[in-house]
Amino acid sequence: MAEQAIRNNDTSVQDEWGQICSQLKLEFGETAYDSWLKPLSIGSFNNGVMNICVPTTFMKNWVITHYSERIHKIWEHKNPEIKQVNFVVQTMNSGDTSLLKKIVTTPTPQSLYISNYGTAVNDYVRTDGNMQLSAPLNPAFTFDTFVVGKTNEFAYAAARKVAESKNVSFNPLFLYSGVGLGKTHLMHAIAWHIRQQDPNRNVIYLSAEQFLYKFVKALRYKDTAAFKEQFRSVDVLMVDDVQFMSNKESTQEEFFYTFNSLIEEGRQIIISADKSPSDLEGIEARLKSRLNSGLVADIHPTDFDLRMGILQNKARQMGVELPEKVAEFLAQKITTNIRELEGSLRRIVAHSQLLSDREITLDMTQDVLKDMLRSIDRKTTIDEIQKKVAEYFNISVKELQSSRRARTVARPRQIAMYLAKQLTSRSLPEIGRKFDRDHTTVMHAVRKVEELIVEDSSLAENVDTLRRMLEN
Ligand code: ADP
Ligand code: MG
Repeated sequence: MAEQAIRNNDTSVQDEWGQICSQLKLEFGETAYDSWLKPLSIGSFNNGVMNICVPTTFMKNWVITHYSERIHKIWEHKNPEIKQVNFVVQTMNSGDTSLLKKIVTTPTPQSLYISNYGTAVNDYVRTDGNMQLSAPLNPAFTFDTFVVGKTNEFAYAAARKVAESKNVSFNPLFLYSGVGLGKTHLMHAIAWHIRQQDPNRNVIYLSAEQFLYKFVKALRYKDTAAFKEQFRSVDVLMVDDVQFMSNKESTQEEFFYTFNSLIEEGRQIIISADKSPSDLEGIEARLKSRLNSGLVADIHPTDFDLRMGILQNKARQMGVELPEKVAEFLAQKITTNIRELEGSLRRIVAHSQLLSDREITLDMTQDVLKDMLRSIDRKTTIDEIQKKVAEYFNISVKELQSSRRARTVARPRQIAMYLAKQLTSRSLPEIGRKFDRDHTTVMHAVRKVEELIVEDSSLAENVDTLRRMLEN
């Protein structure tokens, strides 16, 4: 009897996984799906923890940063028994090892990367020496397709400046932001620009993971001299997501030397991470201070206008008509990051096209994104927001709702109103009532906080932290 139950359960979990895969394919597109998600397989399921097998550590990290949150969300929605989704590297004994073999045994450099960029792989494989070091660039990530708004204009300007200058401008340029806000896009854009303007300049783009992989491989073949040599003739070196290097002392050491010698020789370095250099954990102090020594540019969480701009832009690129109302709805609801915003648009478009060009309407959007919207709404209530914000700023909820105008209370109140507007589906008057105010006060607060996010980076960070706390 018990066994039967387990077996039934297994089958349903397999079915669920099949459905999840179909959904992921729709959301992220076929190429990304084939490269990153198709190789995943179901492992064990115990006490609410689902283990998913991944063929390599590199893929594991990639999947965790780019897809795990979404996988977890969809699954949790389908099956409330799933409390946690883990990714475990399972190498030789898992079904299809051909991918792994290809990565490990093929000596050509492109085998080091599992590209999710389709044809771009061929673009980057050039027979001349060092170009082969670089990872493939996504052809869609150019300056032309990057929408500039208040929250990213500084990072954009810095990136453009570096791309356009013949001489080294800021060294290093350090870009940081939360996930899905455009760091990789900007780095690829710089690389495309330089390669186009001056094909002789040797531009190398690598993720920190790939850097690590190459280094470990060199160690294994006792070939660290060749490793260093590879970077000798680099003119511009970009390393993406350096937070992956935290607590990996030997890689950091190597990176530090490579980095120092390139800077001393006047080569341009561009780095990205999810935190500012000073806030990176598990990174050596001298590396941090080096990273801090050039220009540090952060990308803030998006604001409504940028989200609208991006939606309109992407819709145009996809050749679809996106009604203003639908765009506004999405821009109001999906505030976490641009990747999710894009994902939701792709889902709607895919849906409309699959159903023989069903018109995109607000109703249809709400229907297609039901599970996503429900989880946004379910998660956060205005009461929770008030409680968290009050706690965070060390005031009481009563004070937050009071009429006191002192800055120490008024600012948190505005932030709470702003978060209520962003994270719940409540209307302005409904939010107002919870604060004993009318809707114009709420509107004013939302605008004010949007302005402040751009001007005041510590406030922006507070808002971002609160948002994360509330969304989890
Ligand atoms: P990060 O590296 O910061 O995690 P990405 O650069 O991968 O984020 O961006 C996530 C997605 O959002 C990509 O598809 C990217 O093209 C898109 N994106 C990010 N910022 C912008 C922008 N300003 N304009 C248009 N698309 C953007
Ligand atoms: Mg990135």
